[in-house]
Amino acid sequence: MNYEREFGVSPGSRVRLRKLDPQQTDKDEDKHSASRKVAKLQQRMDELQFQLYAENKRSLLICLQALDAGGKDGVVRHVIGSMNPQGCRVTSFKQPNSEELAHDFLWRVEQKTPRRGEVVIFNRSHYEDVIVVRVHDLVPKPVWSQRYEQINAFERRLITSGTHILKFFLHISKEEQLERFKDRLDDKSRWWKISESDYSEREYWNDYASAYEDALSKCSTADAPWYVIPSDHKWFRNLAISRIIADKLEALRIQVPKPTVNIADIRKKYHAAERDGK
Ligand code: AMP
Ligand code: MG
Repeated sequence: MNYEREFGVSPGSRVRLRKLDPQQTDKDEDKHSASRKVAKLQQRMDELQFQLYAENKRSLLICLQALDAGGKDGVVRHVIGSMNPQGCRVTSFKQPNSEELAHDFLWRVEQKTPRRGEVVIFNRSHYEDVIVVRVHDLVPKPVWSQRYEQINAFERRLITSGTHILKFFLHISKEEQLERFKDRLDDKSRWWKISESDYSEREYWNDYASAYEDALSKCSTADAPWYVIPSDHKWFRNLAISRIIADKLEALRIQVPKPTVNIADIRKKYHAAERDGK
């Protein structure tokens, strides 16, 4: 199965989340084969990220969006956790503070975009400004409805300056979300993650779905595509995302810079003893 084709949102198409099965997996894979493949892909991503860092010309921005318990933290840990922290960064976007609210919604996002050579993961992103903001009427409709185009323009600008963009929506079912909340209740080490709003937000499930459908449909572009990843099965979610990221890095055909010194000369000059077997 080609995950990129299977889960990528074609630019201009209309996403209907109800028609996409959050439980979907790949019939050729199971939990065990997937975990072996993810381990291999992690190794490859690690190598390619190191090359991207060495090349120091381009960068990769990965946006993760999902409803609560959708698995964003899990993706950060299992998929991206293998990369070298030097050259890789994760930014989580929470409720904007007063300084951030005093600026345009992209102001805080702009500052966290990757520098050349970096891989940056947005755990939530500027898409919250057309999702939670829309669901809870945090700004008037005439304001948020202009943001899709503003987001597209912003991403286009980043692309022009050498940033490559991948955006993943982790698609879970309402039942799976409740199951995961329950797991948290049963695991003391994760109590800190639980909030009352996790449950109250479930009342807005359909509003969130509509807001996501609009964001995914209006903002999936050829250069900054959205992927809707079936995420009820964590093993499949990890496999699909790892493969798409690894393939993307592979497709960049990264050029590690040529040495700036004469390696043979240096070897001769400083390692003559080694050569002579002394
Ligand atoms: P968590 O990711 O669970 O730590 O929660 C972060 C919270 O911040 C979520 O409830 C988000 O919806 C909220 N949030 C993130 N960005 C924004 C934003 N731009 N406006 C309002 N709320 C936001
Ligand atoms: Mg939360």
